[in-house]
Amino acid sequence: MAESPALVRTSAAELYDSYVLKNYARAPVTLVRGKASTVWDDQGKSYLDFSSGIAVTSVGHCHPRWVAAVQRQAGELVHISNLFRTPNQGELAKRLVGYAGPGRVFFCNSGGEADEALIKLSRLHGVRKSGVEGKCIKVICAKNGFHGRMFGGMSATPKESVQKGFRPLLPGFVFAELNNLESFASLVDADTTAILVESIQGDGGINPCTPEFLQGLRRLCDEKGLLLLLDEVQCGAGRTGKFFAFEHAGIRADAIAMAKGLAGGFPIGAVWVGERFADLFQPGMHGSTFGGTPLASAAALAVLDIIQAEGLLAHVTRESVPWIAELNRLVADFPSKVLEIRGRGFLVGVQMASDSAPTIAALRENGLLIAPAGVNVIRLLPPLVTTRDELARSVAIFRDVLGKA
Ligand SMILES: *Cc1c(COP(=O)(O)O)cnc(C)c1O
Repeated sequence: MAESPALVRTSAAELYDSYVLKNYARAPVTLVRGKASTVWDDQGKSYLDFSSGIAVTSVGHCHPRWVAAVQRQAGELVHISNLFRTPNQGELAKRLVGYAGPGRVFFCNSGGEADEALIKLSRLHGVRKSGVEGKCIKVICAKNGFHGRMFGGMSATPKESVQKGFRPLLPGFVFAELNNLESFASLVDADTTAILVESIQGDGGINPCTPEFLQGLRRLCDEKGLLLLLDEVQCGAGRTGKFFAFEHAGIRADAIAMAKGLAGGFPIGAVWVGERFADLFQPGMHGSTFGGTPLASAAALAVLDIIQAEGLLAHVTRESVPWIAELNRLVADFPSKVLEIRGRGFLVGVQMASDSAPTIAALRENGLLIAPAGVNVIRLLPPLVTTRDELARSVAIFRDVLGKA
């Protein structure tokens, strides 16, 4: 007879130990519930969640308006494939064009998938530019960048821990120094089709492109006939106080990858392509079974509605300034431990002087969850709805931990 599941309840820790692939170094905590910027573990302990599922839960956990939209759509139509139209996908595309400018949108399910579409777009542009296939394929990326784990994006991510074991990689990627226009310009040749960078590097340790650098890349791409591809998977969807982080530089991209925060926790990826290049993709050339389902689109529409209704871009802009100023005081007060604060809005990196792991564990024990990044960078990604008090609490926890260590 089958055992009653209520009687033999194996702990999540044991289940992970026995059955889940070991490709992550997971923190020893099992989370069971979330509300806005707070999550609870299976022992009832609460945490401020400044990891946000790595910049995903943009409107916080279980926002009532988001929950209502997803529940309503789940009872109406969840999935129908891209062989047919749905109102939600069309509406979401229109709203994203509203943010990005004249162009068209392709939907998929993740940041990695969005980046693959950017890379495929660069190949199509290369074919159009050179008149032959397979020649004009060179894409210039930034050192320290991160573009996901699929073969294209992985090849565009010059990090040993990402690439090791998976070679040979996709050819055609070369790497220049971030914020060094000359470094990018010197790599352009007749076989170059595109430049691909994150407007603010996330996984690499929160390294923002300067406005002058992005403006310079825009000019370089215009002069040389290259696509400017911006990976906004992490820094987009309102995280810096503008919908896209590159807006701070006052430029336009030729194509943009989006994902993480766009649907507030529902898996989604999207690629906006500017109207000059939108016809490069013709029927049959690309696709994604789950891309832009009515349910995923409803979740994203709810996020965009909440961002607007609650004025979250203005909230992030306003509240991030004093918060980042307070974080900067940690540099002054603990100079041997905290070297620098980088980033913008609710996308902030605290550069530690040495191994950040003990600090990360202590922050967790004191009720603050964060996401590590780069080399000893503590990445703070509060949900866009995080209150002033919660931001202040995060600094207080940090101060406590640094003071005791
Ligand atoms: C997370 C991330 C990706 C990959 O997204 P997945 O959804 O994990 O595939 C790509 N680019 C950037 C900038 C990211 O931060």
